[in-house]
Amino acid sequence: MGLKVGIDLGSTAIKVVFVENEHLVWKKAVPTTPGQTRIADHLTAEGLWALRCTADTLESVVFTGYGKGLVNGTGKVIDEVSANSLGAFLLSGGKARTIINIGGQDVKVIRLSATGKLLDFKMNDKCAAGTGRFFELAGRILDTPVEIFGELGQAVADPVNINSTCAVFAESEIVSMMAKGIAKERIIQGLHESIARRIAGLAGGLDMEDDFYLDGGSANNQALVTAIEEELCRDVYVLPHPQFTVAYGAARSVETL
Ligand code: ADP
Repeated sequence: MGLKVGIDLGSTAIKVVFVENEHLVWKKAVPTTPGQTRIADHLTAEGLWALRCTADTLESVVFTGYGKGLVNGTGKVIDEVSANSLGAFLLSGGKARTIINIGGQDVKVIRLSATGKLLDFKMNDKCAAGTGRFFELAGRILDTPVEIFGELGQAVADPVNINSTCAVFAESEIVSMMAKGIAKERIIQGLHESIARRIAGLAGGLDMEDDFYLDGGSANNQALVTAIEEELCRDVYVLPHPQFTVAYGAARSVETL
């Protein structure tokens, strides 16, 4: 079988996907640590093993993401905005026109044409607030893994108001709320609402006719997704396997080259 591999060397997580025809048949994400290309090689070997395949069944390997510059000659390279655009367009069945990617260290808003051509994109990488990294920092202060932020936040009726738009100030706001004995669930939901306001601000000014599609690791957080929907006053769809959209787009990009 001809397998296409997509490798996203992200700022926070390394993602590897295997695609057979258009189907995502294997995927794995691990935290980004030094030696990214070696980790990607190990993940690729793990994927081959899991699929009971050998390296000669690999049709193509395409790298993308923050660390793509580390790749030297072992595979094709595509920029992450192009990979994200293609992945989101294909995984949405050709419906995505506006994509919001909440990554580890930046938030991107991408606009596509009806044929999936990149029209425009905006990126906030100046400030950690609103990114996965910020959630992880808050998770450490609150002694709570980010994977359960969504579940905890959804049950809250009276979230706190977090005013700081800067991660450093928001961090001290969280610490002082904890010192006052405020329940962490209320703080978490306050964070979701504060971050949703920032993300909606970045998306503001775009043509708001279309549905919005969300991807990136933090799109797994349903309370954040709901807060973004409320801020934007529209339905927001989460792409399937949202943390792997970019790697999937990289894998499928060989079809368009
Ligand atoms: P990058 O490509 O920049 O490395 P990702 O799109 O992989 O970023 O997103 C990484 C972030 O996703 C992590 O910082 C983590 O906070 C968040 N994340 C991953 N899985 C989940 C989950 N199940 N629930 C909430 N957040 C998650």
